[in-house]
Amino acid sequence: MIKIKTLAEIELMRESALLVSKTLGMIASEVKPGVTTLYLDKLAEEFIRDHNGIPGFLGLYDFPNTLCMSPNAQVVHGIPNDTPLKEGDIISVDCGVLMHGFYGDHAYTFEVGEVDAATKKLLQVTKESLYEGIRQFKTGNRVGDVGFAIQDYCEKHGYGIVRELVGHGLGKKMHEDPEMPNYGRKGRGKKFKEGMVVAIEPMVNLGTHKINQLSDGWTILTADRKPSAHFEHDVAIVNGKPELLSTFKYIYDALGITSNEEDAFRNM
Ligand code: MG
Ligand code: MG
Repeated sequence: MIKIKTLAEIELMRESALLVSKTLGMIASEVKPGVTTLYLDKLAEEFIRDHNGIPGFLGLYDFPNTLCMSPNAQVVHGIPNDTPLKEGDIISVDCGVLMHGFYGDHAYTFEVGEVDAATKKLLQVTKESLYEGIRQFKTGNRVGDVGFAIQDYCEKHGYGIVRELVGHGLGKKMHEDPEMPNYGRKGRGKKFKEGMVVAIEPMVNLGTHKINQLSDGWTILTADRKPSAHFEHDVAIVNGKPELLSTFKYIYDALGITSNEEDAFRNM
């Protein structure tokens, strides 16, 4: 059942989403060759607790850490470890926070030093596809409209859309209805309503859409071991239109990037 949020609840959810945004911004300035994902994980846990949040992933379904950190061919759900990042890696950092009884959950894929052109393009297109999907999250549209927009945009570039993992409703639970696949058919699936909040999160592979899971029971990686990208935002429907609760602003501030990509989704 889809749980509709009141405006007051959406404001609380914005605070949870923004704590994730700030955590990712802090991580952005720490991602560099030689740093381990376990070190970054500890920084994130401290940061979240210092800001009166609870790490949302730690212990959820028995996940052992605060961040899901998935380098290179890992798609999502990678477990932080003591292997240092190296020049040319990419690393998907997915972070969840529980605050005021509501979850925030979003993700960004970072470049470690200089990344090759094909991988850079994968990151760019995957992020653009996230906004293509968000544009379709409005009253009257359906789940399939978001999935179609993401799939169409990415497949035009020859990329593979992961099928087995999907976005989701967000609220007092990390994973609520509806499921939000990154593929689909226009006009199909559940209808969007005012007050819905979802996490939209394309997981896009440079090569095949097929995946494997490691024997750790968590890590998902591409079947052909080519790179995979993952970007995620938390979005509410307010006044019939998509409104971003999360932001990449703190990441861009840390990295010195100028962007107006979020402007259309701000309540101004
Ligand atoms: Mg996430
Ligand atoms: Mg999510």
